[in-house]
Amino acid sequence: MRAGRDWRNRKVEPTTGERSATAAARLGPVADRSPPVHAPPIPHLTSTDPALAALIEGEALRQRDTLRLIPSENYVSVAVLEATGSVLTNKYSEGYAGRRYYEGQRFVDPVETLAVDRARALFTVEHANVQPYSGSPANLAAYLAFAQPGDAVLGMALPMGGHLTHGWSVSATGTWFRPVRYGVRRDSGRVDLDEVRDLARRERPKLIFCGGTAIPRTVDFAAFGEIAREVGAVLVADIAHIAGLIAGGAHPSPVGHADVISTTTHKTLRGPRGAMLMCSAAHAKAIDRAVFPGLQGGPHNHTTAGIAVALHEAAQPAFRAYAHQVVANAQALAAALRERGFDLVTGGTDNHLILVDLTNRGIGGKPAARAMDTAGLECNYNTVPYDPRTPFDPSGIRLGTPAVTTRGLTEEHMPQVAVWIDRAVSAAATGDEAALDRIAAEVRDRLAAYPVPG
Ligand SMILES: *Cc1c(COP(=O)(O)O)cnc(C)c1O
Repeated sequence: MRAGRDWRNRKVEPTTGERSATAAARLGPVADRSPPVHAPPIPHLTSTDPALAALIEGEALRQRDTLRLIPSENYVSVAVLEATGSVLTNKYSEGYAGRRYYEGQRFVDPVETLAVDRARALFTVEHANVQPYSGSPANLAAYLAFAQPGDAVLGMALPMGGHLTHGWSVSATGTWFRPVRYGVRRDSGRVDLDEVRDLARRERPKLIFCGGTAIPRTVDFAAFGEIAREVGAVLVADIAHIAGLIAGGAHPSPVGHADVISTTTHKTLRGPRGAMLMCSAAHAKAIDRAVFPGLQGGPHNHTTAGIAVALHEAAQPAFRAYAHQVVANAQALAAALRERGFDLVTGGTDNHLILVDLTNRGIGGKPAARAMDTAGLECNYNTVPYDPRTPFDPSGIRLGTPAVTTRGLTEEHMPQVAVWIDRAVSAAATGDEAALDRIAAEVRDRLAAYPVPG
């Protein structure tokens, strides 16, 4: 029926929320089509705003039925969902616990204090600020605390695996400051610490960022710390991707090496969307002032509560096992992909993330990722170091195991995942849409045995 239709033009995501909400409403109540899968259940939303409820249920089903391999994504627990969906969203609390600009904080103050104390204990840091709205504003707060506009800042180039907020040109951080960028070695795909040291000595940056979004290998925090101390720079370890691995003991900690640790809370840490900044007592005031009133107004108390829950979960023995399983799964998937001829940047992984260069498969990252999505295998297209193609049509895809590990998949499942990826990439190269649909059905069937949290 769909033969002859190019899957590349197939619309997999709604173009506008309104239009698809209307379409969803026309299909009738969600219950007519499938049992509600969202947890906690959303019966009030279903009755007052069925169109929106249908979209949320649709997304829950999509998350249930696809193999989610985007390394920055996860599934949070129902406890985290409950906290983030709580009445704490009704409250304003500019300031910090005990020093607020609004009354009525007798429950909110201890919520934030709990989150702060749990962060300090889990990461063994002297100070934690849990108010940044997300990872990008958290990083901006580090600039505000320690640099002036026009100052040199040293960060990893975005196409090499860094983050926009590490001074990339299209980010405010790349225009308000004077960005200096390091990359990875062409031969090894790994950070060139000699280059970092040379650049730091020559450019004397106020801030150095280490960590990134597409780094499949361990970040050498000790080496970065040495370089930062030598040139008198503040070292920010951006552990957004690997915070859960660090908390679970599956990646070395930057504590003792970095002046400031910046992290999101929603990636491997498996909490709500949010962020934290951690530092020594000496930097506490500068960091707190930069977050509020420097950059933000009222903290999102419901998110703070969700962060507290996630930090509690991350302190349990089960989370240590989870973090190590994430890495074991990534390494098993990397080995299986390598066996099937895939070209992996750095040849493998030390963490949760795999960067695949598809050049030898004769297809770009974007059409491959599109086809994989059709096949129920969710990833994102990504540049690879020294990518000859453009960022919007790059050579690679980025894969990660945090979400599938939360579902309960282990090393034994990874060869099958690699087979699906291999088949999907091959089908993408030949435009075989039927093959993609077959894979999607297999993925859905296999995942049925691994329920989403809740
Ligand atoms: C995800 C990420 C961020 C930004 O987080 P947002 O919450 O999307 O703003 C910052 N730095 C790194 C390294 C990241 O991976």
